[in-house]
Parts: sequence; structure tokens; C-alpha cells
Amino acid sequence: MAKRKPRPRFTIDRASGLLAAARQVPSPNHNDRPAGATLDLIVVHNISLPPGEFGGPWIDALFTNQLNPRAHPYFTSVAPLQVSAHLLIRRDGELVQYVPFHRRAWHAGASSWQGRENCNDFSVGIELEGTDDGAYTTAQYRRLAVAIRALCRTYPTLAPERLAGHSDIAPGRKTDPGPSFDWDRLRRWLKPRRYNRRRKGAA
Ligand SMILES: [Zn+2]
Repeated sequence: MAKRKPRPRFTIDRASGLLAAARQVPSPNHNDRPAGATLDLIVVHNISLPPGEFGGPWIDALFTNQLNPRAHPYFTSVAPLQVSAHLLIRRDGELVQYVPFHRRAWHAGASSWQGRENCNDFSVGIELEGTDDGAYTTAQYRRLAVAIRALCRTYPTLAPERLAGHSDIAPGRKTDPGPSFDWDRLRRWLKPRRYNRRRKGAA
């Protein structure tokens, strides 16, 4: 009989700020949040390197300042950037964590949410491997919902309503996660009833 795969643990350790289910790829691109800052917002992004291509090692390389600018013509412009996100969700749903959640990752840039500037100070940044125009995968919606729920359990100042796209907090400058991101679909995944029913069904 085939052995059942152990289920990944979607718990966040508060002390370390790490999600047990995520592959850990520590990025140097983070710093302290301002004193007294709480986590109030989750920002959804997309990324693909090179643009429109999936599955390569390049996102890990970018977020750890190891992207070789000669590996692809597009990389010359992004390789010098010092950027990061807390979490990446790959096409197959794999979770990769670069920055502990309580630390300030460098994902939003110049941004504003509900009159507050500098969203990096008080937000968690989640990248979906994808593009503005191509459909995201079911595995990505599912894992994004699971990650958001884990974050809300661990940091009670977060809530499923406190979500924004990068384009919402940096309009005119950023377009991700793009028209291809189905917010209604995510919200359906975040509804407690559906979540619980799924959980029971999976048990
Ligand atoms: Zn973005």
C-alpha cells in the first residue's frame, strides 16, 4: 500500500516568524519594522523570471542577491535590485519563504494603503509565480488561502479583509497581480464554511 505523504504543517512559529510548510531560502533583504508596528495588511504580487517563464531557479536567486545578470537579457535590469518578499507560491503550490513574517521585507516600494505610506512597514508580501494576464493555478489559490489563514491565526491584527494587490497600493506604478487574479475565487477559498468542509472531506 502506498504510504500517505505527510501533510505539510501550516503553522507559523511566532518566535522565528517561519511557516513550517515552506521551503526556507533566507534572503538578506529585510530589516526591522518600525517600533510598535503591527501587521495590518497582506499584499498579493506576481513575479516570473524571465517574465512569462515558470519553474527556474531565478526568483530564489533574485531574492538572495545572486541573480546572474548575464544569464538572460532581462536580468541585467533586475539583478542590481535588493528586493524580497516574505513568501512565494509557485505554480504547483510550493511555498518558499525568504523573510520571517515579523521582519520587514522589501516588496512594496513606494506605496499607500488607507492613507498610510510605506506599506512594507506593516504588511506581509506574498508573491504568486505568474503574470498579469495568465490564469493562476488552483494549487496557488488553495495555498494562498491556507497561508492567509495561518497568518491571521498567528497575527490577530491581520484579517482576510485586509488584503490588497500591489496595484492597489502602488497604482500607476505597479500592475500585479493583474486582471488574471480572481479575487472572488480567493475570497471563496477564505470563507470559513468552505474551508471547514474541505478540511473534513480531507480527513
Ligand atoms: Zn509586486
